[in-house]
Amino acid sequence: MKISYLIVGSGLAGSVLAERIANVLKKEVLILEKRNHVGGNVYDFKDENGILIHKYGPHAFHTNNKRVWDYLSQFTEWYPYFHKVLAVIDGIKVPLPFNLNSIYKVFPLKLAGELEEKLTSKYGYNKKIPILELKKEEDPSLKFLAQYIYEKVFLGYTLKQWGVSPDKIDPSVTARVPVYISRDDRYFQDKYQGIPKDGYTKMIERMLDHPKIKIELETDFFKVKDKIKYDFLIYTGPIDEFFEFKYSKLPYRSLYFSFENYPVETFQEVAQVNYPENYDFTRITEFKHFLPFRKSHNTTIAFEYPCEYTPKENEPYYPVPNEENKTIYNKYKRLVQSLSNTVFIGRLAEYKYYNMDQIVARALEVFYNRLINKKGI
Ligand code: FAD
Ligand code: UDP
Repeated sequence: MKISYLIVGSGLAGSVLAERIANVLKKEVLILEKRNHVGGNVYDFKDENGILIHKYGPHAFHTNNKRVWDYLSQFTEWYPYFHKVLAVIDGIKVPLPFNLNSIYKVFPLKLAGELEEKLTSKYGYNKKIPILELKKEEDPSLKFLAQYIYEKVFLGYTLKQWGVSPDKIDPSVTARVPVYISRDDRYFQDKYQGIPKDGYTKMIERMLDHPKIKIELETDFFKVKDKIKYDFLIYTGPIDEFFEFKYSKLPYRSLYFSFENYPVETFQEVAQVNYPENYDFTRITEFKHFLPFRKSHNTTIAFEYPCEYTPKENEPYYPVPNEENKTIYNKYKRLVQSLSNTVFIGRLAEYKYYNMDQIVARALEVFYNRLINKKGI
């Protein structure tokens, strides 16, 4: 039998495209997913205490893209959640992104006042400055502040997360968490923020609930590809693996999660606490904060330990953005461009540090521009 659309991977990218193809094009879709569940890295599940766990790390949805928000809202209601993150610095928990409130937490009042005055007169209020930019400061007070934040917030965390110091990774990575001249303690300032009220997995299941969509779990594309015939391929797995590592392996960073359940109401004040300086883990996530209306006398937390990606042993969670890897990726991309009726999309297939909303936007763009050649939903 010949399938119209074969989709490799049931993460957000694969699921959005499957939903659009089935509902708009009214064509048959087969999704192959090597894991035993749909959803890719946004997958969540209820543990024995009824707490919804994000199996692959904390996922807070945020976007300024109304189109993306409206699209996903067809498949979920939202709990209006604003992600807040604390970082432990010298034993004190301070808001992240490091902001004016953080300054007052770690410095004596007079010094904090001087630093606030310097920052606001130089940059203005409500401004975001990447740490690697602030580090170029020549003013002695701002130079001192930049060095302090660099060492206490970024250096240790980045060494753990990426295995290299912040200057050895693309500046866009640390710029994701800029120094924020503001008293806004939220991690993100986007217009639309929330957590799917019944979880991400339910949202994905509703997207895929269509008679024209078939899903085969625990099925690795590479093990069955010679037996399947299709008109169009949508591939969301690692790009280097698809081409049998022809131009060498692209590195990915992986994570190991250690889950613990404790008989206490709450373990920490917020969903995410980062540990840049101490311990081998980077952060602790306490899942019940994401959907606090779900009650449980226990709590489940996850310690997150970054590590290198080793095929078959762990998962490729993060592409590693730097010049060398961009060069390798571009060679693979040229091979993709030579294939007809094939789309590579997603964090692994495009080797890009995408957030969830960017993936949804990209999948909608691919659908309307590549698959039906029309703009707008
Ligand atoms: P994936 O979710 O990786 O899906 C790819 C799927 O393809 C997987 O299910 C995989 O099993 C399958 N697959 C791969 N190869 C094969 C094969 N050969 N055969 C069959 N199936 C295959 N984004 C946010 O916006 N906010 C957050 O707070 C946030 N937190 C994150 C925290 C962590 C720890 C991580 C890792 C990511 C986070 N993200 C967050 C990013 C978000 O997870 C991604 O943007 C999104 O899940 C990417 O979707 P995708 O479909 O591209 O990839
Ligand atoms: N980062 C850091 N210290 C922190 C938080 C972030 O050094 O306390 C840096 C680190 O390099 C990290 C990057 O900023 O990989 C992006 O952080 P983000 O919270 O966006 O990471 P993600 O949630 O995607 O893992």
